[in-house]
Amino acid sequence: MKWMLNTDEILKTCGEHKIVDDLEKQVFYKFLQKTSPLHTLALALILYALGGVPFVVWGMGVRAVCLFHVTCLVNSICHRHGQQPWITNDLSRNIWWVAILSFGEGWHNNHHAFQYSARFGLKWWQMDIAWYTVRFLETIGLATDVKLPIPTDIQRRTCSYSQTSFESLNPTPIGAKSVIAPHQVN
Ligand SMILES: [Zn+2]
Repeated sequence: MKWMLNTDEILKTCGEHKIVDDLEKQVFYKFLQKTSPLHTLALALILYALGGVPFVVWGMGVRAVCLFHVTCLVNSICHRHGQQPWITNDLSRNIWWVAILSFGEGWHNNHHAFQYSARFGLKWWQMDIAWYTVRFLETIGLATDVKLPIPTDIQRRTCSYSQTSFESLNPTPIGAKSVIAPHQVN
């Protein structure tokens, strides 16, 4: 959990807060930020109206605890156990059952290898619900310029993925935004 408290390290790794300048200028996100406590309150009221205190406890308290534990699970066990198919020079690992619980983040070595990628489950069988959501949003035009691992990075990171075809990483482009060219590493 130390990484969450070490803001100096986060700033060093991710840069200053200005890296989300583009989001901070958008009216929609400004609105969300200013009114975020009200969203929590509204959810609590809706849950209470639907099912009383038990709904509030399960829908907010238990849900928040589960979310927090799964997040910590990714950042603890996925740096100790599991497989490391990519050369990342760190402790990150892939664990399939954490990926199911965390909607894809359990493919953590993939994530460390291609941090800019919207897709963490890089093989068809690597379940990645967050990626399916991004793909859906892209399909209906709400997400654009979606990033995927680029061939030069794939080559640089490749080790035990030597028998992997990366054609699966190159889904049919939506518009002309796909960034990954057909590429095979054998
Ligand atoms: Zn990590």
